[in-house]
Amino acid sequence: MQNNAGVVVILGTGGTIAGTAARADDLVGYTSAALGADDLVAAVPALAGQAIEAETLARLDSSDMDHATWATLRARAAFHLTRDEVAAVVVTHGTDTLEETAYFLHRTLTAPKALVLTAAMRPATALSADGPQNLLDAVTVAREPGSRGVLVVLAGRVHSGAELRKLHGWRIDAFGSGDAGPLAVVEDGRLRRFRDWPEAPLHAAAASLGDAAGWPVVDIVTSHAGARARSLDALVAAGAQGIVIAGTGNGSVHQELEQAARGAIAAGVPVRRASRCLLGGVVGAPADALPSAGTLTPVQARIEMMLDLLAATAA
Ligand code: ASP
Repeated sequence: MQNNAGVVVILGTGGTIAGTAARADDLVGYTSAALGADDLVAAVPALAGQAIEAETLARLDSSDMDHATWATLRARAAFHLTRDEVAAVVVTHGTDTLEETAYFLHRTLTAPKALVLTAAMRPATALSADGPQNLLDAVTVAREPGSRGVLVVLAGRVHSGAELRKLHGWRIDAFGSGDAGPLAVVEDGRLRRFRDWPEAPLHAAAASLGDAAGWPVVDIVTSHAGARARSLDALVAAGAQGIVIAGTGNGSVHQELEQAARGAIAAGVPVRRASRCLLGGVVGAPADALPSAGTLTPVQARIEMMLDLLAATAA
């Protein structure tokens, strides 16, 4: 089936896109996730008459996103993507952990049709809410013939689920794709594409993710001036099965933390270095450096390590 025919399923998970405030000029003092997926669709007149199904899966502020919700979302999206009459799936989400959900789905979900995530920086009740346009653009991308993979549509840009990152705390145009740049832009309802749709082999763990309650615990610790070995030691003592260090610059790590990291590795807890810089990741490494997470951001590296540990347990 061509994407432009058929049903687009909208799965609501909450976030500011579904948020409401008492006053239209209140852009920060709102309640996240107050509206359901149906309400979001009803707010976009251009979607009236289109073949759309709306389902509210969760009402979460995405800063509270959890692995159980990821498992539910993945299963529900996978179910709808296999339905012949469904052209694509759109997920409405909060912006705070959008890049994490996008990366998790990118690594674990087969998406021969498009799975498009979208969100908003302003609540639905704002004078100039960005959610309705973002939702309309997301459906446009979902219906684009040939679109596929895990995509994210925000502020007129289409990002790969593998590359998204939140760059700004409150501006409408808050997201980027790092050094790669966006895949496409949506201009007045039309797509202008720069790169191909994302293709990536799924992670080996995708075949048997099991119960989210059993997923390995991987924590992140940041390297900074005055960093303490005890911060990393405390995470291991609290049950971390893997650690990602958000290092400085090109993945450099404070010597205190590095020493603690070597102790953790010796005790069987793997550690990887990412960079806390917004762009670039970690490139190259001296032979004796701690293992690198490459160009993954710290939050992506956490997901990747969790999946690696899961795959190792299943093997
Ligand atoms: N805290 C909100 C969330 O991530 C922020 C947003 O959606 O913009 O759910």
